[in-house]
Amino acid sequence: MTDLALTGGRVLDPGRGIDARLDVGVTAGRVSAIGDAGRPPREAGRAGETIDARGLVLVPGLIDLHTHLYSGVSHYGIDPDAHCLRRGVTTAVDAGSAGAQTFPGFRRYVIEPADTRVFAFLHVAVQGMITSLVGELEDLRWASPDQAVARAREHPDLIVGVKVRLGYQMVGNDPEPALRLARQAAGQLGLPLMVHIIDMRRPITWLLRHLGEGDIVTHCFHANQGGILAPDGRLHEGVASARARGVLFDVGHGAGSFAYRVARAAFAQGFPPDTVSSDLHAHNVAGPVYDQATTLSKLLHCGMSLAEVVAATTTAPAAAIRRPGEVGTLAPGCTADLTGFELRSGEWALPDGAGGTEVVRTLIVPRLVVRAGIAHRLDTVIPGTGSPW
Ligand SMILES: [Zn+2]
Repeated sequence: MTDLALTGGRVLDPGRGIDARLDVGVTAGRVSAIGDAGRPPREAGRAGETIDARGLVLVPGLIDLHTHLYSGVSHYGIDPDAHCLRRGVTTAVDAGSAGAQTFPGFRRYVIEPADTRVFAFLHVAVQGMITSLVGELEDLRWASPDQAVARAREHPDLIVGVKVRLGYQMVGNDPEPALRLARQAAGQLGLPLMVHIIDMRRPITWLLRHLGEGDIVTHCFHANQGGILAPDGRLHEGVASARARGVLFDVGHGAGSFAYRVARAAFAQGFPPDTVSSDLHAHNVAGPVYDQATTLSKLLHCGMSLAEVVAATTTAPAAAIRRPGEVGTLAPGCTADLTGFELRSGEWALPDGAGGTEVVRTLIVPRLVVRAGIAHRLDTVIPGTGSPW
């Protein structure tokens, strides 16, 4: 008995090597069949629903690995359902908005009420990222690896790693003491460390020596100090070997953390990102980021294939947060999280936040999400206009 059938769409699940016109069946909130899903039995009078998915690409529910969702507490915070689920993202990972002191409120007042599934990297600073007036680790007394470890152990269902930001605005001119404290917490937990690298007053080669398999460099294509490119435009020594050791490189677009020119230089040297994320927050939802789908469109424009872009927002982030098989897949038996999007052709001038604007010719436009078996049709807006499609 199928509760929901999505028929006639192009099903693309890179993690399982599927790219074909297929039907998807959902039963009791889980994917029950891919292929000949069978239509729900109308004659039986059940609440079975069929959605005509022709014209849509159906993929595992999008995962945004870098967001800021502690609305009402952090100056960065935005509402997860308005900006994630209603924009095609079924799983959002908050990147350090909360620390040990502020995480219980984040769980109770934001994560649990949201329809979007939310995971979190816990900031090593106990207060998290509350204000831009003072850098969270300008005074290292705010850092507590012990409290971070204790809080993460209380919430293993939601906390997937530790976050630290090493820009001079957050830690001053020497990022090493803050890095060591965050490293200590992540090491004790055996969880990934996510590091923000913009405006870091030391070269990335220094940082990469401290990172290992599963750790995440976010804002990998920024154009400020501390980036992946040497002055001659080549990848810094140690960047490719860090990837070979399992260090992950995440886009984290942000207000000023993505430059087309850096992405292009990296692509030309065989260095696409491992994961594509938005770093969506209150200061960039009205542009230049808008949402995860627009960010994915920019990476498609930079030369990733559609299957690569989809993998970088499904399979790859699922592995990065160590939830493979739980999110980012359409394997039968998994929670039914799906995103259906159109590929729109046209010309859209999209800024990168680093002084560059390029004309993007294909836009990923989410039209439908299914979250835990519940279908939501989306009123997607055209980036930069606020107008509906
Ligand atoms: Zn961020």
